Amino acid sequence: MQNRDGFSAHEIFTTSKGYTYNDFIILPGYIDFAPDDVILETNITRNIRLKSPLVSSPMDTVTETDMAIALALWGGIGIVHYNNTIEQQADIVSKVKRYENGFINKPLVLSPQNRISDIDMIKAIYNFSGIPITEDGKLNSKLVGIVSNRDIDFEKDRTKLLSEVMTKDILTAKKGITLSEANEILKASKKGKLPIVDEEGRLISLLCRNDLLKNREFPLATKDDKKQLRVGAAISTKDESKDRLAALNDAGVDVVIIDSAQGNSVYQIKMIKYIKKKYPHIDIIGGNVVTTDQCENLIKAGVDALRIGMGPGSICTTQTTMAVGRPQATAVFRSAEYSRKHNIPIIADGGISNIGHISKALALGASTAMMGSMFAGTNEAPGEYFYENGLRLKKYRGMASMEAMEAGGAKRYFAEDAKIIVPQGVSGAVMDKGSMHDYVPYLLQGLKYSFQDIGVRDINSLHEKLYSQDLRFEIRSAMAQKEGHVHDMYSYKEPQFM
Ligand code: GDP
Ligand code: GDP
Ligand code: 5GP
Repeated sequence: MQNRDGFSAHEIFTTSKGYTYNDFIILPGYIDFAPDDVILETNITRNIRLKSPLVSSPMDTVTETDMAIALALWGGIGIVHYNNTIEQQADIVSKVKRYENGFINKPLVLSPQNRISDIDMIKAIYNFSGIPITEDGKLNSKLVGIVSNRDIDFEKDRTKLLSEVMTKDILTAKKGITLSEANEILKASKKGKLPIVDEEGRLISLLCRNDLLKNREFPLATKDDKKQLRVGAAISTKDESKDRLAALNDAGVDVVIIDSAQGNSVYQIKMIKYIKKKYPHIDIIGGNVVTTDQCENLIKAGVDALRIGMGPGSICTTQTTMAVGRPQATAVFRSAEYSRKHNIPIIADGGISNIGHISKALALGASTAMMGSMFAGTNEAPGEYFYENGLRLKKYRGMASMEAMEAGGAKRYFAEDAKIIVPQGVSGAVMDKGSMHDYVPYLLQGLKYSFQDIGVRDINSLHEKLYSQDLRFEIRSAMAQKEGHVHDMYSYKEPQFM
């Protein structure tokens, strides 16, 4: 096309220069829709669809139970880190999976001979207290009662037998009922729980009223077909990961990330093949990679998605110390352009510090964006807030920082058994961001405005516009970057988030 403004991504990213998100800008398109018409649905892997293109990093200062639950409720997905024991990681996954349900197929059950204190213990670990009571305290036995919070909240004697406090007159539904039908009964009954029983009155599964409320409150939530939240977990290429995988699989993990700083390795390829053979139902995200050759190897090995980025992370020193890596915008575009031909979605990982960066990553062909530092300061990130110079902060550290590696995180860098450790990251702190339940809706709304300016209603159209070369870009000079930010003010107040 002649006299066309700007340049296609292909023209810009196939030169001898590598670019970052700040180096370029997207030219505006034509608006004929409202921001609320924008749909941000996407795929994180070949098989898993998300309503929001946001993923949290597998880092020990970013993703544990609360983060994974909050992000999944808002349509993204959290990837649980593995700087912990196998039991700890599997336990986090299992808590996320238990958070919301359709039919709960393995509800916790007690017997009439258990005591109120047993329910207190369950409450402390899982945060629920509605427990069906069967003859012998096992699932698939005759249902004889149910205990809920209201049966025990004012009871002072916690050693009392459940047989003395349980409700015996229970509304149940029969095995075979559909979820929608069961939901209707639950709504009409005004009760908190609906046990499902077979012909002989044996407990098969359980339905919770609170899940109906959660479902209404969080329409974007990322769920599997059992209506449980989806969650991912990171593993390494080490042999230990085989035991980890077995435990994660039992806990119901939906997707695993093989976490390597340089993913194009014989170790990773072996691990991908092992997982594909043994757990074909678990999706695999390979990486990290930044070149088309690297993508090719992992795609051939069978990955369901690729994680792109080597060295752009806010806490990362890889490019300086190892002299290897790639500027992130170039890495994302080149990897996405290649992987698209094989139908493999890519995750733009690292170096994202505002809404514009997420938008740019998607505009360069990424299907999702993975964030560490952006989510690290939220209430839902692990760790406590502390104060420094009057500011409320939370710790954030690279998984290859000395501190994290000493705590067990060197697996990603093949450095676990090394005598001398060369760190590839730093530890520090980030500002308080408040709750994910305020922050994520803000990010999603910002993305919708950005898409409106670009003139596309969804991520698929954005990618089509990218590859048809109708999406136009320009490189920004140093002065242009300065002009593009606040300038020439005597003083001003930064918005809380950008
Ligand atoms: P409760 O009334 O104290 O039991 O708690 P809620 O009504 O708030 O709901 C319990 C939540 O925990 C729901 O979202 C369930 O899906 C979830 N959950 C997961 N596993 C279980 C289980 O084994 N038993 C119960 N009661 N709830 C479970
Ligand atoms: P929808 O009809 O497009 O909303 O399809 P869904 O798959 O979301 O829902 C199918 C049925 O499952 C509907 O009756 C929903 O109310 C119900 N449902 C969805 N999520 C949950 C959940 O977390 N718990 C329960 N109990 N029901 C759910
Ligand atoms: P951020 O969102 O903070 O810019 O980057 C997060 C990403 O940095 C993570 O998802 C991961 O890929 C990468 N990362 C995490 N820890 C380290 C580290 O210690 N060194 C390096 N090189 N990268 C890291």
